Amino acid sequence: MTAPDRKRTAHRSFGDAPEHVVEFYKENHREQTVAVANAKAERFRALGERKMSAWDVLLELDEFIDESDPDTELGQLDHALQTAEAARVAQAPEWLVLTALVHDLGKVLCLFGEPQWAVVGDIFPLGCAFSEEVVFHEFFSENPDTREPRYAGATGMYEPGCGLDAVTMSWGHDDYLARVLEGRLPAEALYVIRYHSFYAAHTHGAYRELFDERDRELMPWVRRFQAFDLYSKTPDAPERDALLPVYRELLERWLPDQLDW
Ligand code: FE
Ligand code: FE
Repeated sequence: MTAPDRKRTAHRSFGDAPEHVVEFYKENHREQTVAVANAKAERFRALGERKMSAWDVLLELDEFIDESDPDTELGQLDHALQTAEAARVAQAPEWLVLTALVHDLGKVLCLFGEPQWAVVGDIFPLGCAFSEEVVFHEFFSENPDTREPRYAGATGMYEPGCGLDAVTMSWGHDDYLARVLEGRLPAEALYVIRYHSFYAAHTHGAYRELFDERDRELMPWVRRFQAFDLYSKTPDAPERDALLPVYRELLERWLPDQLDW
């Protein structure tokens, strides 16, 4: 699969974000530290919470509202259908339509009792300086990691060019879902899922010091996907009666099994 050459960038409405979105990022940027992210990763990468099919998780997230998102107030099932439809209409390859359908299923962590600050919103590297390209970066002044000398500088505790997979990212639904689906989707799809919330990098060009060859090769897929995720957010709910059978069939072909979550 060759990466698409696409330069479209996202504009999200953070300028006049509602108070709950601001509060979300205040808490998220204060709480996400290397120690916290490592502890969450250790617990949830074990995939010992539940056994469920991807379809069941999609339906369970129907009423879940993402508090970090200034651009939609629809539930996650509608968001999944809108994103998948945007990919299908753009004639994206089938694996990318499927990726669009499932990309946010990791938000099931909230149904396991996790707070939203540890599940949704933009993700960013920990263990190095926080980039000004991260949304609401001013709230990082409350983060205890900013007082740790080892984490100072653009690459902090990492070797330059180490590759994003070697970086401890803030914990959320992205890496988690990539772990759930490991070995079941193509590498490009898992990469899109893992980094789709990394706006500072995929949209604003930050953190290039940490990229390796693979990141440079695969990040264009994340940018292509991101347009489906963002620009499909219309206030009108999608036509469920027509779409649910189509996407159920797609899911049953790619991910028929009970998965470990
Ligand atoms: Fe997401
Ligand atoms: Fe999304």
